[in-house]
Amino acid sequence: TEQLENIEISGDYLYQLDLENALKYSISHEIPLHKIIKDKKMDTLKKYLNVLTEYFPLRYGNIFLETTRDIIKKRNNISGEEFSQIIKSIEEEMSPVYSGPSKWIGCKGSKERYRGYPCGLWTMFHMLTVNFAILNKNAEHEPRKILETMHGYIENFFGCADCAQHFVQMAAKNKMFDITNANDSILWLWSAHNEVNARLSGDDTEDPKHKKIQYPAAEHCPNCRYENGTWNEENVLVYLKTKYSYTGINYHDSV
Ligand code: FAD
Repeated sequence: TEQLENIEISGDYLYQLDLENALKYSISHEIPLHKIIKDKKMDTLKKYLNVLTEYFPLRYGNIFLETTRDIIKKRNNISGEEFSQIIKSIEEEMSPVYSGPSKWIGCKGSKERYRGYPCGLWTMFHMLTVNFAILNKNAEHEPRKILETMHGYIENFFGCADCAQHFVQMAAKNKMFDITNANDSILWLWSAHNEVNARLSGDDTEDPKHKKIQYPAAEHCPNCRYENGTWNEENVLVYLKTKYSYTGINYHDSV
């Protein structure tokens, strides 16, 4: 397998509750803030629900996501408010949908204003690029499926407008749409995220207890850098596939 047996990732875990909270905030708060969802936004929403249904690892199963997707699939437009009501009623019908309390674990900030949802959203999309690649190993088709879905979500729904603008510019600059295989999608997102980390290092939004680093830290992955400090992308890929795979998920509700 591509997973390294001896990889040491203590202190850099993927938490189920972070993934679930990001999903929940996105579909129950962020999307409903949009007055009317139609045209490009509606196509984006359909693609997003499709990817979530296929690849999000809800602990109690994805029937909740599948039901939502199938209702939205039949619509040409929807108000954010109606979307929210649909989510609420399916959630009630299929309760419990989420496996734990609404709290951040790996994405918990040292103060309320730090981290949380944006951290969860990055985490969720890394997890999706990795598991898409693992499950579609030999498939050359739709290599950018997750990245294009993320691009659409960020551009059309992400509440931080500046972030969205930066991300869309970066996708064009770093040739996201030229990617031809799923492993390169994983590495593209990793590299893009590091570019954002570099830009935000020392910024007011940085949690002083969780500094922006060029990820992964050398202590977590000593083999990810050559001696001259440049990346060993082959080992970075193995590290990411180990951390973000379904089998890497940690179900604890504290660090
Ligand atoms: P985050 O950067 O949110 O990272 C979350 C977790 O991912 C980390 O704890 C780490 O475990 C892991 N990780 C870190 N780097 C990588 C990597 N390279 N590859 C894989 N995993 C990694 N904020 C702004 O102020 N300006 C912006 O322009 C901006 N753009 C954003 C664009 C997007 C698409 C998103 C989702 C968020 C953006 N944000 C922006 C928010 C910002 O990037 C952080 O999410 C936020 O500051 C919280 O940071 P954090 O320390 O929790 O770590």
